[in-house]
Amino acid sequence: MRQSTDTMGPRATRFEIQDFLKTHVDFKPSYQKNRRNALVLARAAFVEVTTRCNLRCEGCFYFDGGHDRVADNRSAGEWGAFFADLADQGTRFLYLVGAEPSMEPDRLAIAARHIRRGLIGTNGIRRIDPSIPYKLHISVWGAPEQDAAYRGADAFSKALRNYTGETDRALFVYTLTPRNIEDAEQALKRVQDAGLKMTFNMYSPTHTYQERLAGIKRSKSEFFRMSSANNNLTWNAESLAKARTCVSRLIDAFPETLVYSHSYNDWITVPEPRYELDANGVSPHCISRIGGSLSLTGPNLAPVANAKCCTSDVDCRTCRLYGGGLVSRLRLQTSDLSSRHEFRKWLEICEHLFGMYIYTPSWCTEVADA
Ligand code: SF4
Ligand code: SF4
Repeated sequence: MRQSTDTMGPRATRFEIQDFLKTHVDFKPSYQKNRRNALVLARAAFVEVTTRCNLRCEGCFYFDGGHDRVADNRSAGEWGAFFADLADQGTRFLYLVGAEPSMEPDRLAIAARHIRRGLIGTNGIRRIDPSIPYKLHISVWGAPEQDAAYRGADAFSKALRNYTGETDRALFVYTLTPRNIEDAEQALKRVQDAGLKMTFNMYSPTHTYQERLAGIKRSKSEFFRMSSANNNLTWNAESLAKARTCVSRLIDAFPETLVYSHSYNDWITVPEPRYELDANGVSPHCISRIGGSLSLTGPNLAPVANAKCCTSDVDCRTCRLYGGGLVSRLRLQTSDLSSRHEFRKWLEICEHLFGMYIYTPSWCTEVADA
Protein backbone atom coordinates (compact mmCIF):
# COMPACT_ATOMS: atom_id res chain seq x y z
CA MET A 1 0.00 0.00 0.00
CA ARG A 2 1.25 3.50 -0.79
CA GLN A 3 2.37 5.38 2.25
CA SER A 4 0.05 8.35 1.88
CA THR A 5 -2.91 6.05 2.51
CA ASP A 6 -1.59 5.38 6.04
CA THR A 7 -3.80 6.03 9.03
CA MET A 8 -3.56 9.45 10.69
CA GLY A 9 -1.00 9.25 13.46
CA PRO A 10 1.41 11.61 15.17
CA ARG A 11 2.81 14.58 13.27
CA ALA A 12 6.33 14.60 11.83
CA THR A 13 8.88 16.25 14.09
CA ARG A 14 10.33 19.68 13.38
CA PHE A 15 13.72 18.04 12.74
CA GLU A 16 12.27 15.59 10.21
CA ILE A 17 10.68 18.50 8.33
CA GLN A 18 13.86 20.56 8.43
CA ASP A 19 15.94 17.60 7.19
CA PHE A 20 13.53 17.02 4.32
CA LEU A 21 13.53 20.67 3.25
CA LYS A 22 17.32 20.81 3.45
CA THR A 23 17.60 18.08 0.85
CA HIS A 24 14.59 19.25 -1.20
CA VAL A 25 15.13 23.00 -1.19
CA ASP A 26 12.79 23.55 -4.14
CA PHE A 27 9.82 22.58 -1.92
CA LYS A 28 10.59 25.21 0.70
CA PRO A 29 8.50 28.06 -0.84
CA SER A 30 5.39 25.85 -1.15
CA TYR A 31 5.86 24.56 2.38
CA GLN A 32 6.15 28.09 3.74
CA LYS A 33 3.11 29.26 1.78
CA ASN A 34 1.10 26.42 3.29
CA ARG A 35 2.28 27.34 6.77
CA ARG A 36 1.08 30.91 6.23
CA ASN A 37 -2.30 29.69 4.98
CA ALA A 38 -2.57 27.27 7.89
CA LEU A 39 -2.16 30.20 10.28
CA VAL A 40 -5.44 31.64 8.95
CA LEU A 41 -7.21 28.54 10.25
CA ALA A 42 -5.29 28.39 13.51
CA ARG A 43 -6.68 29.76 16.75
CA ALA A 44 -10.17 28.57 15.83
CA ALA A 45 -13.32 27.92 17.82
CA PHE A 46 -16.44 25.90 17.04
CA VAL A 47 -19.77 27.41 18.04
CA GLU A 48 -23.17 25.72 17.81
CA VAL A 49 -25.32 28.68 16.89
CA THR A 50 -28.73 27.17 17.58
CA THR A 51 -30.65 23.98 18.36
CA ARG A 52 -33.14 24.74 15.57
CA CYS A 53 -33.16 23.25 12.07
CA ASN A 54 -35.61 23.27 9.16
CA LEU A 55 -34.67 19.77 7.92
CA ARG A 56 -34.88 16.21 9.23
CA CYS A 57 -31.93 14.32 7.75
CA GLU A 58 -31.52 10.56 8.01
CA GLY A 59 -28.80 9.72 10.53
CA CYS A 60 -28.37 13.37 11.61
CA PHE A 61 -25.33 13.65 13.86
CA TYR A 62 -26.87 16.50 15.82
CA PHE A 63 -30.42 15.62 16.76
CA ASP A 64 -30.16 11.84 16.91
CA GLY A 65 -27.10 12.30 19.12
CA GLY A 66 -29.22 14.40 21.50
CA HIS A 67 -27.14 17.58 21.12
CA ASP A 68 -30.27 19.74 20.91
CA ARG A 69 -31.15 19.12 24.55
CA VAL A 70 -29.76 22.41 25.81
CA ALA A 71 -31.36 25.81 26.43
CA ASP A 72 -31.30 28.12 23.40
CA ASN A 73 -32.53 31.44 24.73
CA ARG A 74 -29.49 33.70 25.12
CA SER A 75 -30.00 37.37 24.25
CA ALA A 76 -28.21 39.31 21.50
CA GLY A 77 -26.24 41.09 24.21
CA GLU A 78 -25.05 37.80 25.67
CA TRP A 79 -24.00 36.54 22.23
CA GLY A 80 -22.13 39.79 21.63
CA ALA A 81 -20.28 39.50 24.93
CA PHE A 82 -19.44 35.87 24.16
CA PHE A 83 -17.90 36.60 20.72
CA ALA A 84 -16.06 39.66 22.08
CA ASP A 85 -14.57 37.44 24.76
CA LEU A 86 -13.53 34.79 22.19
CA ALA A 87 -11.80 37.51 20.14
CA ASP A 88 -10.04 38.83 23.25
CA GLN A 89 -8.78 35.34 24.01
CA GLY A 90 -7.16 35.19 20.57
CA THR A 91 -9.73 33.32 18.45
CA ARG A 92 -9.22 34.35 14.82
CA PHE A 93 -11.37 31.84 12.93
CA LEU A 94 -14.93 30.70 13.72
CA TYR A 95 -16.67 27.52 12.65
CA LEU A 96 -20.37 28.25 13.04
CA VAL A 97 -22.26 24.98 13.04
CA GLY A 98 -25.64 23.51 13.89
CA ALA A 99 -28.09 22.57 14.16
CA GLU A 100 -28.78 25.11 11.32
CA PRO A 101 -26.96 28.46 11.72
CA SER A 102 -29.08 30.29 9.11
CA MET A 103 -32.04 30.03 11.52
CA GLU A 104 -30.33 32.75 13.60
CA PRO A 105 -29.12 35.47 11.20
CA ASP A 106 -28.65 38.01 14.01
CA ARG A 107 -26.21 35.75 15.84
CA LEU A 108 -24.20 35.30 12.62
CA ALA A 109 -24.01 39.06 12.15
CA ILE A 110 -22.90 39.53 15.76
CA ALA A 111 -20.17 36.89 15.30
CA ALA A 112 -18.85 38.63 12.17
CA ARG A 113 -18.64 41.95 14.00
CA HIS A 114 -16.09 40.46 16.40
CA ILE A 115 -14.18 37.85 14.36
CA ARG A 116 -13.64 38.55 10.68
CA ARG A 117 -12.80 35.08 9.37
CA GLY A 118 -14.92 31.99 9.55
CA LEU A 119 -16.97 29.30 7.99
CA ILE A 120 -20.67 28.50 8.31
CA GLY A 121 -22.02 24.99 7.79
CA THR A 122 -25.52 25.39 6.38
CA ASN A 123 -28.17 23.44 4.48
CA GLY A 124 -28.67 26.41 2.13
CA ILE A 125 -32.45 26.72 2.49
CA ARG A 126 -32.27 30.19 4.04
CA ARG A 127 -29.95 32.64 2.33
CA ILE A 128 -27.22 34.04 4.56
CA ASP A 129 -26.55 37.75 4.16
CA PRO A 130 -23.42 38.40 2.04
CA SER A 131 -22.32 41.11 4.47
CA ILE A 132 -21.17 38.24 6.70
CA PRO A 133 -17.67 37.58 5.27
CA TYR A 134 -17.57 33.87 6.06
CA LYS A 135 -17.19 30.94 3.70
CA LEU A 136 -20.40 28.92 3.37
CA HIS A 137 -20.32 25.12 3.21
CA ILE A 138 -23.72 24.07 1.91
CA SER A 139 -24.61 20.44 2.48
CA VAL A 140 -26.12 18.37 -0.35
CA TRP A 141 -27.18 14.73 -0.22
CA GLY A 142 -28.35 14.01 -3.77
CA ALA A 143 -29.39 15.54 -7.04
CA PRO A 144 -32.17 16.26 -6.09
CA GLU A 145 -34.50 13.28 -5.45
CA GLN A 146 -32.17 11.64 -2.93
CA ASP A 147 -31.67 14.97 -1.21
CA ALA A 148 -35.42 15.26 -0.72
CA ALA A 149 -35.84 11.63 0.31
CA TYR A 150 -33.07 11.57 2.91
CA ARG A 151 -33.56 15.11 4.23
CA GLY A 152 -37.31 15.68 4.01
CA ALA A 153 -37.09 18.53 1.43
CA ASP A 154 -35.36 19.44 -1.83
CA ALA A 155 -32.85 21.65 -0.06
CA PHE A 156 -30.41 21.44 -2.99
CA SER A 157 -32.64 23.28 -5.48
CA LYS A 158 -33.40 26.01 -2.94
CA ALA A 159 -29.72 26.44 -2.12
CA LEU A 160 -28.79 26.71 -5.81
CA ARG A 161 -31.36 29.46 -6.26
CA ASN A 162 -30.14 31.25 -3.13
CA TYR A 163 -26.47 31.31 -4.09
CA THR A 164 -26.31 31.30 -7.90
CA GLY A 165 -23.12 32.97 -9.08
CA GLU A 166 -21.52 33.38 -5.62
CA THR A 167 -18.54 31.28 -6.63
CA ASP A 168 -16.12 32.39 -3.95
CA ARG A 169 -18.47 32.52 -0.98
CA ALA A 170 -20.58 29.39 -1.42
CA LEU A 171 -19.20 25.87 -1.69
CA PHE A 172 -21.57 22.94 -2.04
CA VAL A 173 -20.50 19.95 0.02
CA TYR A 174 -21.95 16.76 -1.44
CA THR A 175 -22.10 14.05 1.22
CA LEU A 176 -21.32 10.87 -0.63
CA THR A 177 -23.07 7.74 0.58
CA PRO A 178 -23.17 4.28 -0.97
CA ARG A 179 -26.69 5.22 -2.19
CA ASN A 180 -25.90 8.43 -4.06
CA ILE A 181 -22.58 7.84 -5.83
CA GLU A 182 -24.30 7.82 -9.24
CA ASP A 183 -26.03 11.13 -8.47
CA ALA A 184 -22.76 12.97 -7.94
CA GLU A 185 -22.21 13.82 -11.60
CA GLN A 186 -25.70 15.26 -11.98
CA ALA A 187 -25.17 17.32 -8.82
CA LEU A 188 -21.90 18.64 -10.21
CA LYS A 189 -23.56 19.63 -13.48
CA ARG A 190 -26.24 21.57 -11.60
CA VAL A 191 -23.63 23.33 -9.51
CA GLN A 192 -21.56 24.10 -12.61
CA ASP A 193 -24.61 25.53 -14.39
CA ALA A 194 -25.23 27.84 -11.42
CA GLY A 195 -21.65 29.15 -11.64
CA LEU A 196 -20.73 27.56 -8.31
CA LYS A 197 -18.28 25.01 -6.91
CA MET A 198 -18.63 21.71 -5.13
CA THR A 199 -16.59 19.35 -3.00
CA PHE A 200 -17.20 15.97 -1.37
CA ASN A 201 -17.76 14.84 2.16
CA MET A 202 -18.26 11.16 2.98
CA TYR A 203 -21.13 9.98 5.14
CA SER A 204 -19.84 8.82 8.51
CA PRO A 205 -22.24 6.95 10.77
CA THR A 206 -23.00 8.03 14.31
CA HIS A 207 -22.95 5.55 17.17
CA THR A 208 -26.71 6.08 17.43
CA TYR A 209 -27.26 5.25 13.73
CA GLN A 210 -25.18 2.08 14.09
CA GLU A 211 -27.09 1.06 17.20
CA ARG A 212 -30.36 1.53 15.36
CA LEU A 213 -29.12 -0.57 12.42
CA ALA A 214 -28.04 -3.30 14.83
CA GLY A 215 -31.42 -3.19 16.59
CA ILE A 216 -29.79 -2.20 19.90
CA LYS A 217 -31.65 1.11 19.93
CA ARG A 218 -35.28 0.64 18.96
CA SER A 219 -37.02 3.91 19.84
CA LYS A 220 -38.74 5.64 16.90
CA SER A 221 -36.86 8.54 15.36
CA GLU A 222 -37.64 11.01 12.60
CA PHE A 223 -33.90 10.83 11.81
CA PHE A 224 -34.10 7.09 11.04
CA ARG A 225 -36.86 6.58 8.50
CA MET A 226 -35.39 4.67 5.57
CA SER A 227 -32.40 2.65 6.73
CA SER A 228 -32.29 -1.01 7.63
CA ALA A 229 -29.58 -3.56 8.39
CA ASN A 230 -29.51 -4.51 4.68
CA ASN A 231 -29.98 -1.11 3.11
CA ASN A 232 -28.23 1.78 4.77
CA LEU A 233 -25.64 4.54 4.40
CA THR A 234 -22.60 2.78 5.85
CA TRP A 235 -19.59 2.01 3.67
CA ASN A 236 -17.90 -1.29 2.88
CA ALA A 237 -14.81 -2.08 0.79
CA GLU A 238 -16.87 -2.45 -2.37
CA SER A 239 -18.80 0.82 -2.08
CA LEU A 240 -15.63 2.69 -1.08
CA ALA A 241 -13.85 1.40 -4.19
CA LYS A 242 -16.82 2.48 -6.30
CA ALA A 243 -16.77 5.95 -4.72
CA ARG A 244 -13.03 6.25 -5.31
CA THR A 245 -13.33 5.39 -9.02
CA CYS A 246 -16.29 7.70 -9.55
CA VAL A 247 -14.74 10.66 -7.73
CA SER A 248 -11.43 10.18 -9.53
CA ARG A 249 -13.22 10.43 -12.86
CA LEU A 250 -15.17 13.51 -11.76
CA ILE A 251 -12.03 15.32 -10.57
CA ASP A 252 -10.68 15.07 -14.12
CA ALA A 253 -14.02 15.84 -15.78
CA PHE A 254 -14.90 18.97 -13.71
CA PRO A 255 -11.58 20.69 -12.93
CA GLU A 256 -13.18 24.15 -12.63
CA THR A 257 -16.16 23.09 -10.52
CA LEU A 258 -14.94 20.32 -8.25
CA VAL A 259 -12.62 21.35 -5.41
CA TYR A 260 -11.05 18.00 -4.57
CA SER A 261 -7.78 16.12 -4.96
CA HIS A 262 -6.80 12.67 -6.15
CA SER A 263 -4.45 12.33 -3.19
CA TYR A 264 -7.19 12.91 -0.64
CA ASN A 265 -9.60 10.71 -2.56
CA ASP A 266 -7.05 7.89 -2.45
CA TRP A 267 -6.55 8.38 1.28
CA ILE A 268 -10.15 8.72 2.44
CA THR A 269 -11.54 5.72 0.52
CA VAL A 270 -9.25 3.11 2.08
CA PRO A 271 -11.50 0.62 3.95
CA GLU A 272 -9.40 0.55 7.12
CA PRO A 273 -9.94 3.20 9.85
CA ARG A 274 -8.42 6.50 8.73
CA TYR A 275 -7.02 7.31 12.18
CA GLU A 276 -4.93 5.59 14.76
CA LEU A 277 -7.33 4.77 17.61
CA ASP A 278 -6.97 4.57 21.36
CA ALA A 279 -8.35 1.74 23.53
CA ASN A 280 -11.82 3.37 23.42
CA GLY A 281 -11.89 3.54 19.64
CA VAL A 282 -11.30 7.30 19.64
CA SER A 283 -8.73 9.09 17.49
CA PRO A 284 -6.13 10.94 19.58
CA HIS A 285 -4.57 12.51 16.46
CA CYS A 286 -7.61 14.01 14.74
CA ILE A 287 -7.05 17.74 14.54
CA SER A 288 -10.76 18.40 15.15
CA ARG A 289 -10.51 17.05 18.70
CA ILE A 290 -11.78 19.58 21.23
CA GLY A 291 -9.17 20.55 23.78
CA GLY A 292 -6.13 22.75 24.02
CA SER A 293 -6.89 25.91 22.09
CA LEU A 294 -9.86 24.42 20.21
CA SER A 295 -13.20 24.91 21.98
CA LEU A 296 -16.79 23.91 21.25
CA THR A 297 -19.54 26.10 22.69
CA GLY A 298 -23.23 25.21 22.66
CA PRO A 299 -26.22 27.50 21.99
CA ASN A 300 -26.47 28.00 25.76
CA LEU A 301 -23.03 29.67 25.50
CA ALA A 302 -21.46 27.01 27.73
CA PRO A 303 -18.74 24.56 26.67
CA VAL A 304 -20.36 21.40 25.27
CA ALA A 305 -19.88 18.71 27.90
CA ASN A 306 -17.70 15.70 27.04
CA ALA A 307 -17.28 16.80 23.42
CA LYS A 308 -14.55 14.95 21.55
CA CYS A 309 -15.17 17.09 18.40
CA CYS A 310 -18.09 19.03 16.90
CA THR A 311 -19.67 15.74 15.73
CA SER A 312 -19.11 13.74 18.90
CA ASP A 313 -21.65 11.01 18.14
CA VAL A 314 -19.75 10.04 14.97
CA ASP A 315 -17.69 6.88 15.38
CA CYS A 316 -13.96 7.62 14.90
CA ARG A 317 -13.41 4.05 13.65
CA THR A 318 -15.48 4.76 10.55
CA CYS A 319 -15.18 8.54 10.42
CA ARG A 320 -14.50 9.94 6.93
CA LEU A 321 -15.85 13.44 7.58
CA TYR A 322 -13.98 16.08 5.63
CA GLY A 323 -13.83 18.40 8.63
CA GLY A 324 -11.67 16.00 10.61
CA GLY A 325 -9.92 14.17 7.78
CA LEU A 326 -8.93 17.02 5.53
CA VAL A 327 -7.78 19.37 8.25
CA SER A 328 -5.87 16.54 9.95
CA ARG A 329 -4.05 15.83 6.68
CA LEU A 330 -2.75 19.39 6.83
CA ARG A 331 -0.35 18.17 9.49
CA LEU A 332 2.74 16.60 7.97
CA GLN A 333 3.35 13.00 8.92
CA THR A 334 6.66 11.16 8.61
CA SER A 335 5.25 9.20 5.66
CA ASP A 336 4.59 12.47 3.77
CA LEU A 337 8.34 13.10 3.90
CA SER A 338 9.35 9.69 2.60
CA SER A 339 9.78 10.84 -1.01
CA ARG A 340 9.24 13.77 -3.35
CA HIS A 341 6.16 12.01 -4.68
CA GLU A 342 4.58 11.75 -1.20
CA PHE A 343 5.38 15.37 -0.40
CA ARG A 344 3.77 16.51 -3.67
CA LYS A 345 0.63 14.61 -2.69
CA TRP A 346 0.60 16.42 0.65
CA LEU A 347 0.88 19.75 -1.19
CA GLU A 348 -2.04 18.76 -3.39
CA ILE A 349 -4.19 18.05 -0.32
CA CYS A 350 -3.24 21.42 1.21
CA GLU A 351 -4.30 23.21 -1.96
CA HIS A 352 -7.59 21.30 -1.92
CA LEU A 353 -8.19 22.31 1.69
CA PHE A 354 -7.33 25.99 1.38
CA GLY A 355 -9.54 26.22 -1.71
CA MET A 356 -12.41 25.08 0.49
CA TYR A 357 -11.84 27.04 3.66
CA ILE A 358 -10.32 30.43 2.94
CA TYR A 359 -12.54 33.22 1.73
CA THR A 360 -11.83 36.92 1.65
CA PRO A 361 -14.54 38.94 -0.04
CA SER A 362 -13.21 41.72 -2.23
CA TRP A 363 -15.01 44.35 -0.13
CA CYS A 364 -12.99 43.42 2.95
CA THR A 365 -9.62 42.43 1.42
CA GLU A 366 -8.07 45.61 2.71
CA VAL A 367 -9.20 44.94 6.28
CA ALA A 368 -8.16 41.28 6.13
CA ASP A 369 -4.67 42.10 4.87
CA ALA A 370 -4.11 44.80 7.48
S1 SF4 B 1 -27.87 17.04 9.36
FE1 SF4 B 1 -27.85 19.30 9.62
S2 SF4 B 1 -29.45 20.03 8.20
FE2 SF4 B 1 -29.83 17.85 8.55
S3 SF4 B 1 -31.28 17.72 10.28
FE3 SF4 B 1 -29.21 17.55 11.12
S4 SF4 B 1 -28.67 19.65 11.70
FE4 SF4 B 1 -30.40 19.80 10.25
S1 SF4 C 1 -13.92 14.34 13.40
FE1 SF4 C 1 -14.63 13.58 15.42
S2 SF4 C 1 -15.50 11.56 14.95
FE2 SF4 C 1 -14.19 12.10 13.22
S3 SF4 C 1 -12.17 11.21 13.71
FE3 SF4 C 1 -12.18 13.33 14.44
S4 SF4 C 1 -12.74 13.14 16.60
FE4 SF4 C 1 -13.36 11.23 15.60
